[in-house]
Amino acid sequence: MIEGIEAMEQAWMISDTSDSSSDSDLGGRSGSSSSSPSPHAPSPPPPPPRANSPSIVDSSSWVEGAIIVGAGPAGLAVAACLKDRGVPSIVLDKANCIASLWQQRTYDRLHLHIAKQYCELPLLSFARDVPQYPTKNQFIDYLHDYARHFEIQPLFDRCVVAATREQSGDRSLWRVETVDKRRGVREEFRSRWLVVATGENGAERIPEDLRPGLDRFQGTVLHSSQYRNGKPFKGQRVLVVGCGNSGMEIALDLLNHGAQPSIVVRSPMHILPREMFGRSTFAVAMSLMKLLPLRVTDKLLVMYATLALGNTTKYGILRPSTGPLETKAKFSKTPILDMGTFRKIRSGSIKVMPCMEKIDREGVYFGDGRYESYDSIILATGYKSMVCSWFKDDGNYFSRDGFPKSGWNCDKGLYAAGMSRQGIFGVSKDAKHISDHIYDDFSFIERKRTNSIVNFKMMMK
Ligand SMILES: Cc1cc2nc3c(=O)[nH]c(=O)nc-3n(C[C@H](O)[C@H](O)[C@H](O)COP(=O)(O)OP(=O)(O)OC[C@H]3O[C@@H](n4cnc5c(N)ncnc54)[C@H](O)[C@@H]3O)c2cc1C
Repeated sequence: MIEGIEAMEQAWMISDTSDSSSDSDLGGRSGSSSSSPSPHAPSPPPPPPRANSPSIVDSSSWVEGAIIVGAGPAGLAVAACLKDRGVPSIVLDKANCIASLWQQRTYDRLHLHIAKQYCELPLLSFARDVPQYPTKNQFIDYLHDYARHFEIQPLFDRCVVAATREQSGDRSLWRVETVDKRRGVREEFRSRWLVVATGENGAERIPEDLRPGLDRFQGTVLHSSQYRNGKPFKGQRVLVVGCGNSGMEIALDLLNHGAQPSIVVRSPMHILPREMFGRSTFAVAMSLMKLLPLRVTDKLLVMYATLALGNTTKYGILRPSTGPLETKAKFSKTPILDMGTFRKIRSGSIKVMPCMEKIDREGVYFGDGRYESYDSIILATGYKSMVCSWFKDDGNYFSRDGFPKSGWNCDKGLYAAGMSRQGIFGVSKDAKHISDHIYDDFSFIERKRTNSIVNFKMMMK
């Protein structure tokens, strides 16, 4: 049984992964005739250089401090913590702005799902007048303020296409290669420390078994990263595939914009009210866990949820046999914090559908034998890490799904920030650990260097 504060912190953090099992990318597709990607579709990264054939770079720089890949919350947090301790760093991002996920790949009505005190980055709090659950724009403003405050100026349009380790004496050296497609320039950066902060949401995840049907379907197909709001779907029958926090909220948004949404729920999941007794459910769970074992806390959460929401099973949403915190800890499946969708499911305004059997030109056959036609399908099927597309690893540090094998400290000056499936709370924890670790190493080297200069000067006297 998982107990203790550390387990509690790990037990339940928001991440927007889905229950789908297989991977692949899909650009957006609007209408049957068009096969061109949607303007919101993320452009594919340029091909990595072939193994064993060093590519010709236009410039090569030695970085005194750390190289941080990714200017999302995790990359910014690491850069800020390092700066605070006097360690320099550079931040590289393939996008043209900080927090590109939040600025370019999220829907309009998105708010932080958990209260702001659990979504702060280290060393700088949200302003007092920011509400308990900041909107995505308030969160983006906070990140801009954060970067300004710590004078973090990422190098944008630098897509990292390769990172390799070399041994230099008794130390490792990391070589990172970037491509700036806009300027047509290849650069190389070298350092003792490399921080991977490219996130768990590198690319859209589309279950492989859906692909053939989606190709046949004549209506609009979008991934949730391309969905902005329900306006274009007014009056349409829309199927949302995937019932994570994004899928549930998108179904509600569609309804509010005059669409007729249905949502596919293909495996058991926990829905909890966003607040309990006027406090964030997450905060309540954290407090309970300090006093009670995880399973008892889970029981109390489910009891409260049943009182507040009713029996979800009646509406086609089964609860897993393990409680919400245990399910998150064991299977990385985040409980849904209800933003009002469940009330609409209860009233019948949003239909719950079982697993999909087959998609044809106009609609979908479901596991219970029903067939429904749709105008659009929105895939809220989650994301996948893309680290393995550029990190030349041989499976030493990252598993095949692009997650670090040994947490934030991957060894030999390599770190992973924000890849512990614990949302922004986990991002902050990683940033503190990583900056402490690099600081110790950095100051040791600085001391050694100062001592050799002093010794040299004394010899010359
Ligand atoms: C819709 C949605 C809602 C969420 N809501 C919450 C919430 O309410 N609370 C919470 O705690 N968590 C939430 N999360 C989960 C998580 O906290 C966020 O995804 C958060 O942005 C993670 O930060 P990150 O810096 O690790 O990754 P990201 O924000 O994904 O940043 C990664 C950066 O790396 C860059 N990058 C990627 N590949 C390369 C490359 N090869 N070269 C150069 N740069 C690269 C990207 O451009 C990006 O800027 C949410 C996630 C999603 C998708």
